[in-house]
Amino acid sequence: MKSDHRLPLRRTVLRLATGLGAATAVGLVVADPGTSPARRPAGAAGSQAAALRTRPLAYRLRPMTGHTPPRYRPAAPPVRTRPFEQLTDIGHAMVLTFDDGPDPLYTPHILDTLRKHDVRAMFFLCGEMANDNRDLVRRIADEGHTVGNHTWTHPLVTKLSRAGVIEELGRTSDVIEEITGAAPLWYRAPYGAWNRNSFEIGAAMGMEPMAWTVDTLDWTVPGTDTIVRRVRRGAGPGVVVLSHDAGGNRSQSVAALRRYLPQLLDDGYRLTVPRR
Ligand SMILES: [Zn+2]
Repeated sequence: MKSDHRLPLRRTVLRLATGLGAATAVGLVVADPGTSPARRPAGAAGSQAAALRTRPLAYRLRPMTGHTPPRYRPAAPPVRTRPFEQLTDIGHAMVLTFDDGPDPLYTPHILDTLRKHDVRAMFFLCGEMANDNRDLVRRIADEGHTVGNHTWTHPLVTKLSRAGVIEELGRTSDVIEEITGAAPLWYRAPYGAWNRNSFEIGAAMGMEPMAWTVDTLDWTVPGTDTIVRRVRRGAGPGVVVLSHDAGGNRSQSVAALRRYLPQLLDDGYRLTVPRR
C-alpha cells in the first residue's frame, strides 16, 4: 500500500466505526434482553440482575409528564438486502452506468459523447484505476457525472472477509473523496455478487447498492450492433444500463454509445442519474 493511502483509509475506518457504533446502540435498545448475549447474566450476580430486571424501571412508575426517557442516537442507515436494479419515479428516464474505469483509452471518448448530448451518467470506479487516473476522475466529477465505488481491485466480494470488504470499499471511497472532495453515495459489487457484509458495510459508509436492469455484456465484445440492439430492446422508464469503460478492449462500447445515446434521446428518454 502506498503511504498516501494510509491516512485516508484511517478516515473511513473511523467513519465506519461511528456508523457501526450507532447501529450497535440501536441494536441494544431493540434486542430482547433474554436473548442478547451482551446482557445474559452469569452466576449469582447474574440472578440478582435478572431479578432486578423483572421489576419495572423506575421511570415507568412515574407519570409520563415531567420525565423524559433516555434518548438514543438515531437509527443507522437502512441496510438493504437487495440492490437497486432499476429506479422508480424518474419518469421517462434511464440511467447509463459505466464500470471498472477510468481508463485513459476509453473513458475520455465516453465523456465526450455524454458531453456532446448534455447527458449525465454514473461511473463505478475501481480505486486502483482512480488512483492511477486522477485527472480523469476529476473530469468525471467536474462534468456532473455520479462517481460510484466499485471496490479497489475488483474482487469477488462474496469470497472476502468482513475486513477485506471494509478495505476494498473503504480505500476506494477514500481515494474518490481525496480526488473529488466528496465520498461516493453509491457502490456496485463486481460481477453483481452481493452479500450481507457488503450491504452492511456499504450502508455504514453511507452508500446505496446499485445493480442494473440491462446488461449489455459489452465485455464479451459481441459487436457494436449487438450492444446497440441490447440497449434499445431493454430501454424503458427507470431502466439502468450496464456497460464498461475499462477492463479490456472497450472500443465497441464507445462506438455503441455514440449510436444508442442519440437514438434514446430521439425516443424521448431523458438520461439521468439518481438524486441522493
Ligand atoms: Zn466491474
